[in-house]
Amino acid sequence: MASNAPVLILLGPPGAGKGTQARMLEEDFGLVQLSTGDMLRAAVAAGTEAGRMAKAVMEAGQLVSDDIVLAILKDRMSQPDVAKGIILDGFPRTDGQAAALDELLSANGQKVTAAISLEVDDEAMIGRVSGRYTCACGEGYHDQFKQPAKAGTCDKCGGTSFKRRADDNAETVRERLKAYHAQTAPLIAYYEGKGVLQKIDAMGAIADIRTALGQIVQGVAA
Ligand code: AMP
Repeated sequence: MASNAPVLILLGPPGAGKGTQARMLEEDFGLVQLSTGDMLRAAVAAGTEAGRMAKAVMEAGQLVSDDIVLAILKDRMSQPDVAKGIILDGFPRTDGQAAALDELLSANGQKVTAAISLEVDDEAMIGRVSGRYTCACGEGYHDQFKQPAKAGTCDKCGGTSFKRRADDNAETVRERLKAYHAQTAPLIAYYEGKGVLQKIDAMGAIADIRTALGQIVQGVAA
């Protein structure tokens, strides 16, 4: 990665909109979204050793071990397309991961450009996450909040193949929220201490949050 390429982190509980907004930042700024959740789901689907170890932990709504996550992330970060800069979505999630990221970046003369905390209400997250589903092209939908214009057909690519995540049910979301508060929320203070934290209200409309995030990114990554 180029040493002045932006490294952005999106922090927030499940359902806060990290994935949605990371994809929009990709479009708006030409950055690359790195979602450790997507990488782990791909490993589970491919049946790799890491995937076999991660599957049950993910289905229980708990965090996969730092060793597994870091190995997957390092591998992804060694690929050439990350040169333009990255948006980390769902990583780091523990103190250990944050420290490992700092080390990895400093070996390349870099540091975290900004950690942006998407501030939301927990209770609303259970409803948001439980009803969501995705087209094979990556476009996100929701039973209540965002159905395709033509039922069963993706607005973006016209595809008809949709999927739901195994861990997007109310019971598992509660576990994921607990894991977030116990292990990940302390990172807000960690990045505040480094002077790179920004907070935004993420309860509003997706387009408004996109605008607010865009302003932050323009400010730090110009
Ligand atoms: P996500 O797609 O970010 O909601 O992640 C889905 C699940 O993958 C989480 O509930 C965890 O089980 C696992 N996971 C994703 N990223 C991490 C990470 N950085 N550290 C530990 N577990 C992770």
